[in-house]
Amino acid sequence: MSQPHVLIVEDEPAQREVLGYNLEAEGFRTTRAEDGEQGLIMVDEDAPDVIVLDWMLPNVSGIEVCRQLKMRNDTRSIPIIMLSARSEEVDKVRGLETGADDYVVKPYAVAELMARVRTQLRRVRPSTVGQILTFEDISLDSETHRVTRGGNELKLGPTEFRLLTTFMEKPGRVWSREQLLDRVWGRDIYVDTRTVDVHIGRLRKVLTQQGGADPVRTVRGAGYALG
Ligand code: CA
Repeated sequence: MSQPHVLIVEDEPAQREVLGYNLEAEGFRTTRAEDGEQGLIMVDEDAPDVIVLDWMLPNVSGIEVCRQLKMRNDTRSIPIIMLSARSEEVDKVRGLETGADDYVVKPYAVAELMARVRTQLRRVRPSTVGQILTFEDISLDSETHRVTRGGNELKLGPTEFRLLTTFMEKPGRVWSREQLLDRVWGRDIYVDTRTVDVHIGRLRKVLTQQGGADPVRTVRGAGYALG
């Protein structure tokens, strides 16, 4: 089975790199275009499973790229996740009228965008996306957001859910507070690194409320890991 392929069309090099890096770390193959014109050419050369498309692009705008792809029989079914710096509802509606399958407002948390990419992939290539993550007796369903430990359902807040998802995707990996901020909160949002500690504390409390051992490990001077 080939790796799922995500085309990133984003003119800001730093954003393109972060997105590409994170998608590849999760096992996706990525191709990357820096403007709309190049994006359209790359779709023809190597059709992706999902497209992450920035709204504001030089040459051909993201909206125009979306419109063109959704008009063509051979590309209509490729899911498009549109990125925009503007959050107004009117933009959202316009984005969806062009046929975009989903819409994410910048700045976004990488974990959130990864979840959206997986949701779209599940529609077009369900076999490539694992829906249930497990670690020891903990189970997390990324689609329904249901988390259980030893069969008992746990109630997590949205931030704790994203933290746990990040941990469960790579058990044993040590995450620095800065890396967790990038993935869980989004890199453009100013949040003190101590906020990470607060939410880790909340996550631990929920995970251990039934009496199980604390699975979150504090790595002195480095950060946190699951297991
Ligand atoms: Ca842009």
